[in-house]
Amino acid sequence: MAEKGKETKITGYCVKCKVNGREIKNPKNAPMKGRSGPRPAVKGNCAVCDAGMYRIGATV
Ligand SMILES: [Zn+2]
Repeated sequence: MAEKGKETKITGYCVKCKVNGREIKNPKNAPMKGRSGPRPAVKGNCAVCDAGMYRIGATV
């Protein structure tokens, strides 16, 4: 299986660069509390401009 793929890059939309598919630097799991339980989400910074980024539905 794909157990070795630990360096999965998380990408998201950067509101500052206005670019989708931007790599998120220092991604960290930051699950959101939802009505039906916690939802996976990742928090980090834009690899280019360092703006805070958030990606819902992903885990590190
Ligand atoms: Zn950016």
